[in-house]
Amino acid sequence: QAKSQGMGRYEIFNTHMHTKSLARLQLETDLRRSLEREEFEVYYQPIMRLADQQVCGFEALLRWRHPTRGIISPLEFIPLAEETGLITTIGCWVLYQACTQLKTWQTEFPQVQHLTMSVNLSAKQFLQPNLLGQIEQTILATNCERNSLKLELTESVLMNNAIAISHALNKIRQLGVKLSIDDFGTGYSSLSYLHRFPLDTLKIDRSFVNTLTSSKEHRAIVQTIVTLAHHLQMDVTAEGVETQEQLEILHQLHCEYAQGFLFSQPLTAQAATQFLTDTINLSSASFF
Ligand code: C2E
Ligand code: MG
Ligand code: MG
Ligand code: MG
Repeated sequence: QAKSQGMGRYEIFNTHMHTKSLARLQLETDLRRSLEREEFEVYYQPIMRLADQQVCGFEALLRWRHPTRGIISPLEFIPLAEETGLITTIGCWVLYQACTQLKTWQTEFPQVQHLTMSVNLSAKQFLQPNLLGQIEQTILATNCERNSLKLELTESVLMNNAIAISHALNKIRQLGVKLSIDDFGTGYSSLSYLHRFPLDTLKIDRSFVNTLTSSKEHRAIVQTIVTLAHHLQMDVTAEGVETQEQLEILHQLHCEYAQGFLFSQPLTAQAATQFLTDTINLSSASFF
């Protein structure tokens, strides 16, 4: 009796594992075909300057429109793309799309000065030997302004392989491209480590921004991070700003930029163009 029960359990567990790996395998197969099937779309979330509340850039955020499952979050498919190595091709495509869009906006909206485009890169991409060539080629092919391109990396990228990464980052910087550290505060990087890397912008993770109004400790942490970043000649962007109250505190703490649902969700290229048009009209109107 006990033995057969044990067997039964074993089989259920086994079937479950089997279903899980099949689902993963299916997703992996789908992911391999997604580029040629044109299922990817880059969305753009505005980044605002706090001093004058004007849009000063966008972050490119990838979306996958799966034929049967609908939109799948990058939190789900990016790890799979990293494991399978597909991230190299996908990342290259995202960079090209984002630079093309940047060029379009720079041409259509010359009155918005220094409009930036931020693109997320994963650890694998930074260790790719031809990354530099890929970036250079994309800039030349799209004819976008290289100083307006910002590549985002997370703390874990810096911590694993610090020497190789530092070398890669210096080379990217020499191209004229800017670098941001993303989700700052969630990883394990020690603060004393930051100055070793040529970073332009520090993005405070939204978990600190969320709790700014309720937690004195988080407010103190954010204050410290902003001060540190400024000492290291970096500017600061707050992620996940959802309320006016959070925005006001960030302004008091001398944070330069903010991004979040308070201003806008990530938008399709078309909607982001409309957002730009609207905010420009709004600001020129307010001068009269
Ligand atoms: P991330 O780079 O930190 O991007 C910010 C994420 O926060 C986005 O999620 C955005 O939609 C979300 N967000 C923005 N404002 C708010 C807010 O006010 N409240 C809340 N709750 N969320 C907000 P998303 O688009 O789902 O992307 C998740 C992550 O996936 C990104 O985090 C990034 O790490 C990764 N990712 C997205 N696109 C790419 C890509 O093209 N390449 C790579 N390697 N990673 C990507
Ligand atoms: Mg990012
Ligand atoms: Mg982030
Ligand atoms: Mg984040």
